[in-house]
Amino acid sequence: MDDNRSQDHQPKRVVVCGGGIIGVCTAYFLAKKGAAVTLIERSSIAGAASGKAGAFLALHMCDDGPLSSLARASFGLHCSLAKELDGPRSYGYRPLTTLTISMGESEVPSKSPILPPWVDGQVKPGEIIGTTENTAQIHLGLFTQSVLAKAVTDYGVEVLTAVVENVQVEEESVVVKVGGGGVIGGDAVVLALGPWTSKVLGLSSKFKVHGKKVHSVVLEPKDGDAITPHALFATYYPAQNMGPVDPDFFPRPTRDVYICGPSVEVEIPDRPELVFPDPESIEMLKRVAGIVSSYLTNDNVTIKSEEAGLMPCTDDELPIMGEVPGMKRCYVASGHGYWGILFGPASGVAMAELVLDGHASVVDLDCFGPTRFVIKVTISEYVVIARISLRFMHVRFIVQF
Ligand SMILES: Cc1cc2nc3c(=O)[nH]c(=O)nc-3n(C[C@H](O)[C@H](O)[C@H](O)COP(=O)(O)OP(=O)(O)OC[C@H]3O[C@@H](n4cnc5c(N)ncnc54)[C@H](O)[C@@H]3O)c2cc1C
Repeated sequence: MDDNRSQDHQPKRVVVCGGGIIGVCTAYFLAKKGAAVTLIERSSIAGAASGKAGAFLALHMCDDGPLSSLARASFGLHCSLAKELDGPRSYGYRPLTTLTISMGESEVPSKSPILPPWVDGQVKPGEIIGTTENTAQIHLGLFTQSVLAKAVTDYGVEVLTAVVENVQVEEESVVVKVGGGGVIGGDAVVLALGPWTSKVLGLSSKFKVHGKKVHSVVLEPKDGDAITPHALFATYYPAQNMGPVDPDFFPRPTRDVYICGPSVEVEIPDRPELVFPDPESIEMLKRVAGIVSSYLTNDNVTIKSEEAGLMPCTDDELPIMGEVPGMKRCYVASGHGYWGILFGPASGVAMAELVLDGHASVVDLDCFGPTRFVIKVTISEYVVIARISLRFMHVRFIVQF
């Protein structure tokens, strides 16, 4: 990636709103490319979904669809960032083997060469869907903090703790208004506010970002050394007449096992601290842990966390990245759904290129642009709408008199 700091005597001032993985990666690559960046976060860096995710990465699992090139470019960037930032040591970057399994209370334990010894419960093996060549993991909170630390020390990113309240686009600049009356000016602004992106700034007439609540537990087994780096994509068939549930297991180098599970679409609360887990979903995750492995039964683990995070999702399940329609120099990067951690670095590079160069070369952003949600009205539709409106006005006029 070019560093155009030397060509540009007056670096572009860019305000990035939101300190999740998307905002932090965008700030990092913008600053690395020579922009003067201020990052605004209301609570803590990676305090929302970006600190609660499983942080599983896959090169190939989005193939055959519009997300394929974003996933592939970003998997590669995660590998190079891991070298640049000493990922294995500083944020637990490591390749994994990935399997599918299914299980139920009535399943009999099976011996299979593909199952690691710690997966000794009522489990039916599926198949190997990822190898150490194409699947990996990171510790998310630590990753986001490492990237931001580098952005601050090496590239001068300023971090401000404040609530973004409004963005005004002017002739040649943007003005970001924050709580307490503060104002931050810039040449461009990037909104990376996760599920709060459309809600906060009243942008929901242009596009909508929803919030899906996903639950997670982190269990520390007494015998942590027995747990090998095998990610499990499980399908659980509860004994009662309930549909299947799909919990994912990600053992981490910190000798604990992260398990995430059921998701449900919810009203977006005012701030991340108000996202609470549902006790039944947490209990279900702990129960399936004990079914999968005798090392993960209640008696054999310490519970390190029970949480829920809001995954930012869109109507068509694709991220939104581009300039906001009708708001020059105001860009959006949100709605990354289930794969936001994987997509973080390539989204950051793409947004930095778009803001500073006018187009992204790392991935084609065409199918992610926010204009896809703008309702297009043809001339004949416009004439019909105008006729209906006139008729209503006429009826109202008669009623009034
Ligand atoms: C349980 C769970 C497991 C997941 N597992 C994986 C996985 O294994 N792999 C993967 O690739 N992805 C995974 N994801 C998805 C991934 O976590 C998300 O897509 C990603 O974190 C979204 O990042 P973001 O930066 O867009 O949003 P967020 O992390 O929500 O960040 C938005 C930030 O904006 C801030 N903010 C909001 N409003 C304001 C305001 N007005 N002023 C200032 N700041 C504001 C918030 O405080 C927050 O810090 C998972 C998600 C969940 C919930």
